[in-house]
Amino acid sequence: MVSAYIALGANLGDAAAALRLAVKAINSLPLTQVRQKSSLYKTAPLDVDAGSAPGGDYLNAVVEVETSLAAPVLLAHLQHIEQEAGRERPYRNAPRTLDLDLLLYGSARIDSERLTVPHPRMMQRVCAGAIG
Ligand code: ATP
Ligand code: MG
Ligand code: MG
Repeated sequence: MVSAYIALGANLGDAAAALRLAVKAINSLPLTQVRQKSSLYKTAPLDVDAGSAPGGDYLNAVVEVETSLAAPVLLAHLQHIEQEAGRERPYRNAPRTLDLDLLLYGSARIDSERLTVPHPRMMQRVCAGAIG
């Protein structure tokens, strides 16, 4: 079993409902249980290179899971949950119904084409802080 941290974000549609459904979906994944979840918090949309990104404020949360899924398998499941929530990617940093990012997977460092862990923009976002 590995302890992993997943960031949830949404800034389109009913973001609070999307995040709640996503937590349930994550808890229902095989070999995976949600151990802790943060409250929902608001952040301003940010683009690391260009400053602000388009769209309204984000609603975010972070969950800690215990999982026996391998990291790429966990990511594939998270992407499936995003799809089910109607996620579209018309352009980078576009407003979204649901974004699920793998922040940490135990103490693993992963640098593959599809998966970078720890999430490379995790610290900028932590430091940007919550609003409202
Ligand atoms: P950001 O990475 O800046 O938060 P984003 O979440 O909007 O951007 P997405 O469109 O959701 O980006 O994902 C783009 C790609 O990022 C995915 O296809 C996925 O393979 C890759 N990726 C790499 N590392 C991770 C990670 N730790 N968690 C989620 N996706 C990742
Ligand atoms: Mg993201
Ligand atoms: Mg993402």
